Amino acid sequence: MEITGNNLKLIIKDGIITEVSSGNPSSNLYISPRFIDLHCHLREPGGEGKETLETGIKSAFTGGYGIICPMPNTNPVCDTSEILHYIFSHSKNPYDIKLKPICAITTGLTGEQITDFEDLIKNGAAGFSNDGKPVENMEIFKKALIKAAGCNSVIFSHAENTDFPPDDPRSEWTAVERELNTLRKTGGRLHFAHISTQKSTELIRSAKQEGLKVTAETAPHYFTFSTDDITSNDGRFKMNPPLRTKDDVDAIKEGLKDGTVDIIATDHAPHTNEEKLQTYNKSPFGITGFETAFSLAYTNLVLKGVLTIEQLIDKLVYTPARIAGIKVYGINPGEKAEFNIIDLNKKYTVKGENFKTKCKITPYEGLELTGKVYQTIIGDKIYNL
Ligand SMILES: [Zn+2]
Repeated sequence: MEITGNNLKLIIKDGIITEVSSGNPSSNLYISPRFIDLHCHLREPGGEGKETLETGIKSAFTGGYGIICPMPNTNPVCDTSEILHYIFSHSKNPYDIKLKPICAITTGLTGEQITDFEDLIKNGAAGFSNDGKPVENMEIFKKALIKAAGCNSVIFSHAENTDFPPDDPRSEWTAVERELNTLRKTGGRLHFAHISTQKSTELIRSAKQEGLKVTAETAPHYFTFSTDDITSNDGRFKMNPPLRTKDDVDAIKEGLKDGTVDIIATDHAPHTNEEKLQTYNKSPFGITGFETAFSLAYTNLVLKGVLTIEQLIDKLVYTPARIAGIKVYGINPGEKAEFNIIDLNKKYTVKGENFKTKCKITPYEGLELTGKVYQTIIGDKIYNL
């Protein structure tokens, strides 16, 4: 099999890459490793009405992902090796999607008792987070940072100060500020999930300049929409953190461009269709993300000159891998063929009914996007997405 993209030309025999040479610049195809998502919610165990490991994996596969990190806010919470084993044994799949779960910082996400980090890492945890329920006690947060550093692991922070309502930007940036102050005292590695405000970006930029080991992610909705796009009382646009102002959107793009915002994660957070069809006030927090992430990033960032395609792939593959200590399958002679073929010219309209996730309700409904992962190659198999 021979595949020519604009970046690479590959020869594959019996599922192994045998030759790699330069591509044809006039090709509309781009060859990339399968993406890595450091932030998603697969809802199982406990929330199977919203998503299951099976539907979540199918959805991730359709979006071009090969490795995904489900967050621990399931029922029961992923805070013991037993739950990790449940996840691994129920997530075997034909698409070779690997799960690298993020386990809870505190038992039951209650913010009191720190979990057994060493045992959880030994059993497959990729890091620790109380996503959805922030750790607001900085004494506990401090202990978690120290403990994670001792295991060479990382804390994934859902930075939220619940003294403020979520739509007040201070709910995010004052939490970022207090957590950076804690990190300054403890050392260790801190990764900020779903950063959405200008002020948070500024705080993280200066923390990096100071030399703190801090990284940050945003999700496609924060560079696609602002509050101006919520034109009716529409639950499809509800997530936490919520959409912010146009100035915040510009700051997030600037942060992506200058590297302050290291990666793009999906924060894929499905609910039932009925739940998301409710009004903004009644709808639960969270929208789906796997199947639109690449196209939204390509359309809104690469085609708008914010990032190059190489920088985008870096934020979808190589930097997430570095943050979570995950091995990327290389595109090199002698390695198993495992990569995406992206059609950079493909134009399409988002239709939720075509999604593989259980949740078909999306704020992206009807958006015209450009660029789509259209095939994934795994060994000698070609999957049309
Ligand atoms: Zn979160």
